[in-house]
Amino acid sequence: MGVVSLNLPQMGIIADGDMETFEQVFNNRLALAKEALMCRYEALKGTPSDVSPIHWQHGGLARLAKGETIDKLLVDGHATISLGYIGLYELTKLMTGESHTTPKGQEFALKVMQKLRAAVDDWKAETGLGFGLYGTPAESLCHRFARIDLAKFGEIEDITDKGYYTNSYHVDVREEIDAFSKLQFESQFQPISTGGCISYIEIPNMAKNLDAMTQVVEYMYDNIQYAEFNTKSDYCQCCGFDQEIIINEDNQWECPQCGNKDTSKMNVTRRTCGLK
Ligand SMILES: [Zn+2]
Repeated sequence: MGVVSLNLPQMGIIADGDMETFEQVFNNRLALAKEALMCRYEALKGTPSDVSPIHWQHGGLARLAKGETIDKLLVDGHATISLGYIGLYELTKLMTGESHTTPKGQEFALKVMQKLRAAVDDWKAETGLGFGLYGTPAESLCHRFARIDLAKFGEIEDITDKGYYTNSYHVDVREEIDAFSKLQFESQFQPISTGGCISYIEIPNMAKNLDAMTQVVEYMYDNIQYAEFNTKSDYCQCCGFDQEIIINEDNQWECPQCGNKDTSKMNVTRRTCGLK
């Protein structure tokens, strides 16, 4: 039914290291988020199946009668409604002075996550709606929240001075950490954030080291619920080159094998998660 996301770093900025203030702000924001989510539910309630017959009448999602409302599909486990969160790293830094990868930071970060989870569990029991805790993907929200806070609170070192907030429970992209440790560390947040969670590692061209690639995939399988690696999957239509197409000194895409620079004859895909 939708998502409302909490700006965790903003709570940390307001609390400025004071745990009591943080608790207050945290609880107020949680109550506000619940109200906003209930608004979504109320807005959907009473919607007739006729708004989208392919979804509600012809089996895309259900086979309701014409004129019937979708109400019974909004409850009893048929639909989810999500509480998102951004910037566990920044919040931890603001409140403890350390990254959430240190023992002290980790303890605080896990407590925050467990409180978020307890809140959605309570709401679920109370309303019968499928509340879930959702690691917000935040392709744009991590910028939006940071931009808002920069305007509101000014430049704060390591928080609002970098143009983005860290997605969900992720490790700060600037932190030195190997792929295996990152997956291991982040895996502990996933069983708490069951409404949605994904961990990423960014990898270079591994075409010549497939054994290592296999190891990474096996490690993911054994250690973490949901993870991905981001890598290059380019293709030069002139020569069939299928590794990384580069940007040359003149700032043009160029096939390193045949020198093709015609962008209508190459496929280049980039998915960047986090910023560096
Ligand atoms: Zn080529």
